[in-house]
Amino acid sequence: MGGATTNLKLIDENGLRIDGRRADELRPMKIEAGVLKRADGSAYVEWGENKVLAAVYGPRECHPRHLQNPTRAIVQCNYNMASFSVSDRKKPGPDRRSQEISKIISEALEHVVLTHLFPRTSIDVYIEVLQANAGTRCAGLTAASVALADAGIPMRDLIAACASGKVADKIVLDLRNEEDNFGTADVPLGLVPRTGEIVLLQMDGDLSIEEFKTALTLSTDACHRIYEMQKDALRRKYCIAQAEIPASVAQPMGEPAASQPAADEGTNVNNSNDNGQQGVQ
Ligand code: ADP
Repeated sequence: MGGATTNLKLIDENGLRIDGRRADELRPMKIEAGVLKRADGSAYVEWGENKVLAAVYGPRECHPRHLQNPTRAIVQCNYNMASFSVSDRKKPGPDRRSQEISKIISEALEHVVLTHLFPRTSIDVYIEVLQANAGTRCAGLTAASVALADAGIPMRDLIAACASGKVADKIVLDLRNEEDNFGTADVPLGLVPRTGEIVLLQMDGDLSIEEFKTALTLSTDACHRIYEMQKDALRRKYCIAQAEIPASVAQPMGEPAASQPAADEGTNVNNSNDNGQQGVQ
């Protein structure tokens, strides 16, 4: 960001962007829930050329212990960009940018997780950016909230996130790298779609009030579309799990299946595991 000059035509005479998108178009997106066996919850997001993995552990004992809160859980996010995720090899390990992104994502997630249910614990969220092409904090937050839901962590809602910005004097949705580098503004937004609350909002660059409102409208609309994809990813995972449950077990309690005995001794149907996750034990 910063409006560096370029010979690239960021928007052509037909109003199309460098990758052929219209101003209000998202890059192609794919979300998958429950991709890692050893994490309590996980999600994978491909968004344009971004590839982001999120893994959730907890609620579990809080480390370091001095961060424990006797009244609620804390959400500790660790955002990391792999060395091979960008064209110039990135120096491995944390830097100021990854610390900033970890902090804003933790704060956004704490708004939706019912932290008061798990005092003294930590909910740990790891975000690994495997491939980056601008918008990784939004992809990371979008993936993290699906991973939290996959872990069965009680939440008020998911968070969907998307950025808008200004490129060649036009407000556009979901900037890719060239647009981020040679554009003049980038505004990532994290939204709680059910309530309309904004839980993440940053601005790099300058916008007039009218331009800012347009950017906010574009991002909000996109977040509602992303929200549907997040819910669909969870449905795909848990509908398959449901299909695997024998009909005799899948019956609601107290309603015996037509051709099966009412109680199947030895099979304990439990709506939640330790983390409140749907399942059969
Ligand atoms: P976001 O990824 O959330 O848009 P930034 O605006 O800070 O965050 O970064 C924009 C893009 O710049 C990143 O997605 C990535 O493609 C690239 N980038 C960021 N940091 C580095 C780095 N250290 N080395 C190379 N490219 C980077």
